[in-house]
Amino acid sequence: MKNFKIAQPQTIDQVTSLLSEKIEKCYLMAGGTDLLGEIKDEIIEPEVVVDLKSIPDLSYIRKEKDGVRIGVLTSIAELAENPMIKQDYPGLHEAANAVATPQLRNLGTVGGNLCQRPRCWYYRDPQLLCQKKGGFECYAYMGRNKYHAIFGGGPCYIVHPSDLAPALISLDAEISLSSPDGEKTLPLADFYILPVVDVSKENILGANEVVKEIKIPLAKSGEKSTYYKLKERGVWDFALVSAAVKGIMAGDVFKDIKIVLGGVAPVPWRLEKAENIIKGKKVTEELLKKAAREALKEARPLKENEFKKELIETVLYRTTLSLI
Ligand SMILES: Cc1cc2nc3c(=O)[nH]c(=O)nc-3n(C[C@H](O)[C@H](O)[C@H](O)COP(=O)(O)OP(=O)(O)OC[C@H]3O[C@@H](n4cnc5c(N)ncnc54)[C@H](O)[C@@H]3O)c2cc1C
Repeated sequence: MKNFKIAQPQTIDQVTSLLSEKIEKCYLMAGGTDLLGEIKDEIIEPEVVVDLKSIPDLSYIRKEKDGVRIGVLTSIAELAENPMIKQDYPGLHEAANAVATPQLRNLGTVGGNLCQRPRCWYYRDPQLLCQKKGGFECYAYMGRNKYHAIFGGGPCYIVHPSDLAPALISLDAEISLSSPDGEKTLPLADFYILPVVDVSKENILGANEVVKEIKIPLAKSGEKSTYYKLKERGVWDFALVSAAVKGIMAGDVFKDIKIVLGGVAPVPWRLEKAENIIKGKKVTEELLKKAAREALKEARPLKENEFKKELIETVLYRTTLSLI
């Protein structure tokens, strides 16, 4: 590992002005659980690492009149243990508990989880220059692709690894970014971009921007949510396929429903067509089969990951039926 400098700013403004100095190879670090892995594996070689944890007051969960605000440095463990989150947003609570291990949840932050880099084994191999790292090829496309995307892939086939992102998107969360020009807020769903837009990154974050806060609308009456994650191993693991579902219930009918999948696409993947099939009708096995069939029409599995289609059907069943 090459030597690098550590900057310890005290405010978000200091972070954005540091980023504006256009130091080549300047990286933000929150808990460091992903960033340090990338440095040790020589995927990145920073000149400067900006330690966000030196900034006070960015770790909080506050219920206010217009929604719940989550500071970007809130640890995943704090999110998982918060009684209000558990009560009002059970899906987010379940997703936070599904992240990695207790140690990683203690160190890892909400912002870091949303901005973590992909786990594709070709991307994480220091000896391979895949497209994401400036090369010309996606090795997964013709190579080993069991864990890769079946939706939204091309020219790169990573899947977004975050458990929190699908859950927060299902809850219509917004993300606030700070830059030297001020603050901007956008739907978290719009934060993420497909490789076809920019293969080198997974979100719209600009070179002088930093994530500051997440906001979730207050839970509505009749709102229920859940998160279900299928993994290859019983212990910690990234999702093979996961689903975050938020429903507004009227008896056993979904007046409204939002379904977001993890582990299947380079971004958290919304199943809007399936939602429209389920909305307003009595939920039966036949209806869910129809919704899954509709969702899977857009699937483009690679050689080794056709199995994800069946898992999608399973998570769709388990999540929706558990809310009725
Ligand atoms: C063994 C292992 C298992 C894991 N399993 C899972 C899992 O099952 N589910 C899951 O969701 N995740 C999993 N993870 C990923 C883990 O959750 C992330 O490493 C963690 O959430 C990142 O948080 P952090 O605060 O440590 O981020 P860091 O490592 O500090 O940063 C991660 C990335 O986000 C950027 N970043 C951090 N904060 C900001 C900010 N405020 N603004 C802009 N950019 C920022 C950094 O520059 C970096 O690129 C696993 C990780 C490991 C090592």
